[in-house]
Amino acid sequence: EAKKNRASNYIQYENTMNSTHNQFLLLETKLRHAIKQDEIQLYYQPKIDLKTNQLNGMEALIRWYDKDYGFISPAKFIPFAEECGLISSIGEWTLKRACKQMKKWLDEYGFDIRISVNISPIHLKERNFVHNLRSVLQDTGLPAKNLELEITEMSLMHQTEELIETFNQIKALGVLIAIDDFGTGYSSLSYLKQFPIDVLKIDQSFIHGLKTGLSNVAMVTAIIKLAHALSMQVVAEGVETEDELYIIRENLCDFAQGYYFSKPLPTDEFSAKLHELYVSRI
Ligand code: C2E
Ligand code: MG
Ligand code: MG
Ligand code: MG
Repeated sequence: EAKKNRASNYIQYENTMNSTHNQFLLLETKLRHAIKQDEIQLYYQPKIDLKTNQLNGMEALIRWYDKDYGFISPAKFIPFAEECGLISSIGEWTLKRACKQMKKWLDEYGFDIRISVNISPIHLKERNFVHNLRSVLQDTGLPAKNLELEITEMSLMHQTEELIETFNQIKALGVLIAIDDFGTGYSSLSYLKQFPIDVLKIDQSFIHGLKTGLSNVAMVTAIIKLAHALSMQVVAEGVETEDELYIIRENLCDFAQGYYFSKPLPTDEFSAKLHELYVSRI
């Protein structure tokens, strides 16, 4: 009896394994197809300068709509793409698309703001990353100073000489570097000295807790002071309420991003917003 149970457990286990494996393959096929067929798109979320209340830039955020699965969140499919080796193609696509769009907006509205693009550490570690980045800037005509790369704090856990060198090469091009989800990376702060970093983005978990937790206020205040002491700028992510905005403003945070100002918007809606801001007022 015990033996039989073990056997059926094993079969069950095997079946789950198989179906997980099949799902993995199916998803991989779908994702490859999506990249080719342009079923992924970029949305854009504004970032506001808290001194002037003006638009300071926007973050490009990827979206995948699949006709069977519906909307698939990047929080799910980006880690999957990293696992199945598709992340660098997605990253190349994203960089090109974002830079091309930003160049259009710069030409159209004559402002001098920055577009932020999220970069996976796996993509960043590709040997030809900087070479390709330079090509994208050349091909699209986007000035380097109008591009910022967002790299999560978690990616810096294993600091290597190569990674520092890559950061230095990115900086040498004139592209800016932001550390995303700052405060959640379980990383030693020593990397802040070793890497050339322009911007810290305070993770939204600290911002959402601002109203309830005094300790979060202390954290956010300390992060802003630390950034400024190191000549870096600070962005508060995930600002949703007036209260949150008040607290970060009081503490001299430079920029804010979040649903309070706007959700990420598809290209045409973001363009309409820019038009409203920069054309119809004149
Ligand atoms: P992230 O880079 O930290 O992006 C911020 C996330 O917070 C976005 O989720 C954004 O839509 C969401 N958000 C913005 N404001 C608010 C707010 O006020 N409240 C709340 N609750 N959420 C807010 P999204 O677009 O689902 O992206 C999730 C993560 O997926 C991103 O986190 C980033 O790590 C990754 N990701 C997104 N696009 C790309 C991409 O093109 N390439 C790579 N490698 N990763 C990406
Ligand atoms: Mg980001
Ligand atoms: Mg973030
Ligand atoms: Mg994040």
